[in-house]
Amino acid sequence: MIRGESLQLRRYNSFGVDAVAHRAIQLESPDDLGGLAFDPAADLVLGAGSNTLFTSDTEGAVYLNRIGGKRVVEVRGSTVVVEAGGGEVWQSLVLWTLSQGLSGLENLSLIPGLVGAAPVQNIGAYGVELSERLESVEAWDWREGELVRLDRDECGFGYRDSRFKSAEPARWLITSIRLCLDMEFRPNLSYAGLGEQLDRMGVETPDAALVSRAVIALRKSKLPNPARLGNAGSFFTNPVISRDRAEALQRDFDGLPVHPAGDESAKLSAAWMIENCGWKGHRQGNAGVSDRHALVLVNHGGATGMEILDLARRVAASVEKKFGVALTPEPRIVGDRWD
Ligand code: NAP
Repeated sequence: MIRGESLQLRRYNSFGVDAVAHRAIQLESPDDLGGLAFDPAADLVLGAGSNTLFTSDTEGAVYLNRIGGKRVVEVRGSTVVVEAGGGEVWQSLVLWTLSQGLSGLENLSLIPGLVGAAPVQNIGAYGVELSERLESVEAWDWREGELVRLDRDECGFGYRDSRFKSAEPARWLITSIRLCLDMEFRPNLSYAGLGEQLDRMGVETPDAALVSRAVIALRKSKLPNPARLGNAGSFFTNPVISRDRAEALQRDFDGLPVHPAGDESAKLSAAWMIENCGWKGHRQGNAGVSDRHALVLVNHGGATGMEILDLARRVAASVEKKFGVALTPEPRIVGDRWD
């Protein structure tokens, strides 16, 4: 464990905004957690900062999760259970599982962030969500001061959501996760763009490594690199509304993409609505909407968290005015509230 005094967080958040942590504590093992106190109102846990917008300095301590380790824990027929520490880089885990001949995470390639953040957000991309592969989470319960294992059913997973994010946001620090992966490859090419990318690559019979390469190529072509242009990926989740309302909207707005989301619900494309309101590529001071992807807000250099939040509010207000649909931010906002 490394205990520091204050820490400038600019390099610890992918938006690259300035914020100072009053106190920083780096955790390298679950053993470091015993005896630490957590103030839910002031302290926070930070992974790679790839889904957090700081709008002010933090009042309390910032716990940096750097708990490492990746290993195979069990083989059940053709299913292999893999465990990874919460401080591992997600993409390193994906590549390591592929190098072991295991599939299941290929559609989730190149998602920024650390393993510990993956269940919080129930990360998802190209038709696959982490919850489909997750067997259990080991987490430190700040409230009870103990290490517990939560099975998938206890994690409250939803669309880009979990118990760790919405129901009990300040209760847990995820120390490790267990995933069920396959020795036999079962491709999920349900997203049109993925099949098209494989065609462009000349792949007729994909394996997991090739699907991973296709996802990486797609993400690199569509999303700005946070190392060059600060961002936190999608700033808004895709709104899920009733199917009737979605169909009515489609009648009013020709071309609005709608995807089924359960029997009676439908998912709208937030990016399409934002672009339709004219925001793509728009710049407001040092903050902007990416010219590559309307769902991504960017820091052109020197933007404050408040500038980015202000732009996000203006974008959401215009979508609400035109489409009557409320947008919800995907990143955690520190120092301010969305509503
Ligand atoms: P896209 O392929 O242009 O599609 C736009 C939206 O339509 C996506 O957000 C996706 O919803 C939805 N969609 C497309 N095909 C679908 C299908 N067959 N069934 C259900 N929903 C479908 O999307 P994109 O922006 O380039 O992103 C591609 C994937 O990467 C998406 O899954 C997206 O979520 C993921 N991604 C996530 C982030 C992030 O920061 N969280 C950033 C970039 C991309 P879903 O988003 O619900 O999948």
